[in-house]
Amino acid sequence: MGILDNKTAIVTGASRGIGEYIARRFASEGAAVAVAARTVEQRDQRFPGTIHGTVETIRKTGGVAIAVPTDLSRSEDRQRLIETVTDELGPVDILVNNAAVTYFQPVLDFPRARFDLMFEVQVRAPFELSQLVLPGMKERGGGWILNISSGAARHPQMPPTGPGAGRGGTVYGMVKAAMERFSTGLASEVYADGIAVNALSPSRGVMTPGVVYHFGVTDPAARVAEGTAEAPEVMAEAALALCSGDPGQLTGRVTYSQALLDELGRTPGPLDPA
Ligand code: NAP
Repeated sequence: MGILDNKTAIVTGASRGIGEYIARRFASEGAAVAVAARTVEQRDQRFPGTIHGTVETIRKTGGVAIAVPTDLSRSEDRQRLIETVTDELGPVDILVNNAAVTYFQPVLDFPRARFDLMFEVQVRAPFELSQLVLPGMKERGGGWILNISSGAARHPQMPPTGPGAGRGGTVYGMVKAAMERFSTGLASEVYADGIAVNALSPSRGVMTPGVVYHFGVTDPAARVAEGTAEAPEVMAEAALALCSGDPGQLTGRVTYSQALLDELGRTPGPLDPA
């Protein structure tokens, strides 16, 4: 018996990184998981992982998952994602908006196309996917929406110091701040419907393909071993807690993975069914 038995979950950006771990953890608890992202075939060695790879890993251990090729910057793909999942797995109980496209560039040089793409994938897509799943959740009397944010949503310290100073993370911080405000606002709108909406960020950097690429990390495993990076299982467990908790109690949070696990007295569970 898993705590997500008979639940249907969508995890966006689950072709690799944190999304892949969340998808596997949910499946290990019995959820039927839709793995949504663009990569169906690996072409770029810097970004290992495909939606089919994640699905295969889940199915090998007896879990239920489907791959849904989705470009979240396209409204028609978002619509199709919800239709496909509803047809193939049933109504959506859990939506995890995890996908992100990120460019680190100073405001002065930031191209409009990149600005638009970041807001489309990280703000409009979570907003629109929520609009698409909310009617069903309301009808069935509950559900869980989780938006994956970042510490970048917080304001920089003045005067700017440390490794992040001047790194061009302003637009990334803007989209995540918007996502957090969306989460708390929606949480209050649907509280009475029994639908939990939360925002979750890693407590420390997670050595995913995206982070390794953007930060030029050469020794990701060593970072985890020395404790300067967070294992992806921590985010997966925190996501599970927020997508299985009592919507009357655990909602409207803007929280951090390890802090949440400490508060709830939890440690990361298995990625494969017991
Ligand atoms: P990642 O390794 O870069 O993976 C990003 C995921 O987003 C991939 O699965 C990618 O899949 C998907 N994606 C990007 N553009 C997409 C699009 N247009 N349509 C559909 N999917 C798209 O990132 P990560 O490090 O795992 O980060 C996951 C989440 O955690 C993000 O929201 C990120 O901001 C947040 N976060 C991460 C860290 C960290 O330390 N890793 C820290 C703070 C916050 P395809 O390329 O296959 O489409």
